[in-house]
Amino acid sequence: MMKTFTIKFLIFLLAFTFLLPCLQNPLTELKAQSPLPKQKSYQFINGQWFDGKGFRRRSFYSAGGVLTSKKTARIDETIDLKNGFVIPAFAEGHNHWLEPQRVDEYIQNYLRDGVFYVKDEGNLPYIVSQFISKLNRPTSVDFITALQGFTGSGGHPLEIIRQFQEFGVIPKEWTERDFDGKAVLIVDDAKDIPGRWKLLLAGKPDFVKVFLNDSEQFGMNKDNPKKTGINPKFLPEIVRLAHEARLYVSVHISTATDFHNAVVAGADEIAHLPFVDFDKKLGNEHFLDNEHFLISEADAKLAARHGVRVITTLSWLKADLGDDPQRAEEAKTQVIIPNLLMLKRHGVKLLIGSDQFRQTSLPEILLLSSFKVFTNPELLKIACETTPQAIFPKRKIGFLRDGYEASFLVLDGNPLTNFEQIKNIRLRFKQGYFIETPKE
Ligand SMILES: [Zn+2]
Repeated sequence: MMKTFTIKFLIFLLAFTFLLPCLQNPLTELKAQSPLPKQKSYQFINGQWFDGKGFRRRSFYSAGGVLTSKKTARIDETIDLKNGFVIPAFAEGHNHWLEPQRVDEYIQNYLRDGVFYVKDEGNLPYIVSQFISKLNRPTSVDFITALQGFTGSGGHPLEIIRQFQEFGVIPKEWTERDFDGKAVLIVDDAKDIPGRWKLLLAGKPDFVKVFLNDSEQFGMNKDNPKKTGINPKFLPEIVRLAHEARLYVSVHISTATDFHNAVVAGADEIAHLPFVDFDKKLGNEHFLDNEHFLISEADAKLAARHGVRVITTLSWLKADLGDDPQRAEEAKTQVIIPNLLMLKRHGVKLLIGSDQFRQTSLPEILLLSSFKVFTNPELLKIACETTPQAIFPKRKIGFLRDGYEASFLVLDGNPLTNFEQIKNIRLRFKQGYFIETPKE
């Protein structure tokens, strides 16, 4: 979940850009979806298609929103891809769509950047219900959400929920008490779990989110609970309930201890690399060195053995340390790159996710590329194969193969030789439809 730092900065922005339309137009503004146009059958010629290793020149057809290499009985239109480089679409493994009034803009931004699949790592049923009807259709973004996440009393992300109440996104009349259940699920005792669990399931979440935050400090400072999230001892029971309900568990972490606690509790996914708050914690009495952020070899091995996925969220480097290049460099060379190398060495699955308000995952992919930990083919596969598949494991997406969804991007140049080419998207096609994006 976003941190207070950015939120403070956003108060200023939001006061002008968000509250005004919010006051003028409550929920009535959301228009009903227009019906989809009739789906055509297309033949795509002169394209170079990514096959997981390289680009191969071949023809593909789209019929009924599905890709096929066999000529279809009917071809409504032939499209010349003019030597463009065809790749599967990108995905966003971590964000929060907390501004219902801006969802049209979010959708446009994501489609523009070729990001067709979005995973919301924690939201409110009250907010999601205002925009969900605009999503999960061929010409829009496909979206899943955890809804309310589990935390402890006073824990992260309650400080953010309060901010959003100030912004006017959450009804003014909701009390702190209302937040428990409507915004987060507070567990301070094992007996709190069954009731909160029932409440979560009633909203039909797509997966389960739990917040650990500096869990090594849990209970250490009673006067200042330090927004530590849930007591890690409750995590195994939540994992058990989630698995019983065939849902996976994604855990917010800040430190290497949180990472450890999540992995040993059987979590399926870790929502950040440990380093969030790196700036504040170095020099703090509790965090005297980088050790607090370095994933141990044993934990990396265990994560690999359990098939745990780790979401990058490295854009925080810029958000946190953008104005301090020396510290940013320190965070990068002493914490981020060693952690990435450790996870890579042990074969831990990485997913692309930005956790950046009003941004897509495209800058996250480019940032990761600049670290030179992954080769261009490795990173391309993480971005357009692994991440989309992790978000929608039951769908045939992430590959340009017979029988897969006809969804792809056409780039001007070869991203395997020049990774920056992922920005040069000349054409977007999703489930059998061309995606129009406003000209810039
Ligand atoms: Zn987040």
